[in-house]
This record gives sequence, C-alpha cells and structure tokens, in this order.
Amino acid sequence: APATVAAPSLRPEDIFIAVKTTRKNHGPRLGLLLRTWISRARPQTFIFTDGDDPELQRQAGSRVINTNCSAVRTRQALCCKMSVEYDNFIESGRKWFCHVDDDNYVNPSGLEHLLSAFSPNQDVYLGRPSLDHPIEATERVQGGGTATTVKFWFATGGAGFCLSRGLALKMSPWASLGSFMSTAEKVRLPDDCTVGYIVEGLLGARLLPSPLFHSHLENLQRLPADAVLQQVTLSYGGPENPHNVVNVAGFSLQQDPTRFKSVHCLLYPDTDWCPMQNRG
Ligand code: UDP
Ligand code: MN
Repeated sequence: APATVAAPSLRPEDIFIAVKTTRKNHGPRLGLLLRTWISRARPQTFIFTDGDDPELQRQAGSRVINTNCSAVRTRQALCCKMSVEYDNFIESGRKWFCHVDDDNYVNPSGLEHLLSAFSPNQDVYLGRPSLDHPIEATERVQGGGTATTVKFWFATGGAGFCLSRGLALKMSPWASLGSFMSTAEKVRLPDDCTVGYIVEGLLGARLLPSPLFHSHLENLQRLPADAVLQQVTLSYGGPENPHNVVNVAGFSLQQDPTRFKSVHCLLYPDTDWCPMQNRG
C-alpha cells in the first residue's frame, strides 16, 4: 500500500454558498439560477430572501431561508440579510462561507478548485476588490467626541466573495447574532464594505484579491471567450445595461440574454435542456 496519506480534498458539502435575493426577484432571477448552476450545487446552496413564496419553496425546498429582514434596499435591510447568512453559516459547521447575489452565476467546480488551495483554518478572505484603492471610513465612537478614520480593502458583494471558517469565527464579536448590523451602523457602510471593515480594519487580516470573481460593474465582454468557463463567478448587466454580458457561443441573445444558459450548457452539456450538439 502507498505510504503517503492523501491530503483531504474539499468536498462540495464543505462549502456554504449564500445567495442573497428579495421577493420580487424570485421569478425574474432565481428561476434561471435554479435551472442552471444551483441544479449542480444543491447541497452547497442556501437562498436568503425576505418573503414567503410557496413556489420557490417547492423548487428549492428547505434550502430557502426567510430572513424576515425587510424587503427594501436600505443599508439596514441588506446588512440584516448578511447577518442572517453569517449566523446560518456558523451554525452549519461548514469550512467555507461564500456570498453571492442573485445575478451571479457560480461555477461550482471552479469555486471548489480555488478554495482547495487554502486551509479553512487560516484567515482567508477572497474576492474582487471593489475599488482600486482602499476605502476610508469614519468610526463613530460611542459617547461622541473623537472620531477615528480607518482604511481597508473590501470585496465587492456583487461579484461574490468567500471567507474561511477560521476567519469567520474570529469575526463573531462584530458579526454574530445581529451585531453585524451595529457594526455597519458604526461605520455607516453597506454590507460588503462592513465585511472588509471587520476583516481588515478590526482583525488586521487581508483581502486576497482574485480575478476569478465578476460583477456587472466591470466590462464583462472583455473577458476572453476561452477564459469564461474558468471563472468562479459571472454576472450580467441587466435591463439598464443589457449589452454587458459575457461573450460565449450558444443560445441566441434573445433566448439567453444573460448568457447563463449558454455558459451552463458549455460546462454541463449533459443537461436535459441543452442542445444535443453540446454533448460531443
Ligand atoms: N436586493 C435585496 N433587497 C432589495 C434589492 C436588492 O436583497 O431591496 C439584493 C438583490 O437580490 C441582489 C443584490 O441585492 O442579490 C443586488 O441587487 P441588484 O443586482 O438589483 O443591484 P446592484 O447593486 O447589483 O446594482
Ligand atoms: Mn446586481
């Protein structure tokens, strides 16, 4: 028998993927994700929303979590969702927490491959920096008086990001059981910035920038066609910017305006609704 012991490889169930959504997006956005990448990442994926929906429940089952956060686009409501995502991850005992939006395509094997290069016991915060410089925030000090400024990098939530369990546990004084919301209020920043503030500003850990995460804030057409399938997350421009989509062959733009179906059929040609010619 071989004398070497194989390194324990990462299993899909070691990853916790939180998808942030809102009631009005269930039809327009979640359906596409459920038919594409979520269908290949069911044990990993948890959907965090703000309203009951029997139809979504039927399609996604127990992996739908109603956060009871309000269905408005305010810092408080979005931080409320992040706080529930965080608590559910801690509770799950899994090794990696990844957050994505409901306009992200996740490549499950790409994500697994990326995370398998790191130890979940180390401090790992992976994602795409939102800006090309660190953000500066003012910390409100309890009781008024002096305000201090703090500079840190953060990963843009719209491209998805991941945290190791080791780092997530260290974040708990500022993130668990609703304290994430008071932390966000202290710096008056959105949810994704607040994660960066806790990781870099309070814990002194560092964002590890990864070019494999993508939001629609970037020009997605510039991604070379042969590199699209190697990315960890993708996104699309949406109605205001319908041309900002990844460049892949497949369905017509009319049939697949986001390109997610075309990407999915290239990654998983055996899918029953994919064209037969994809199966090679
Ligand atoms: N979202 C939410 N509540 C809202 C509006 C948006 O939870 O009231 C979520 C939405 O489901 C998505 C993310 O926030 O996962 C970003 O929303 P969107 O893509 O519409 O806007 P962006 O900030 O990316 O332009
Ligand atoms: Mn978006």
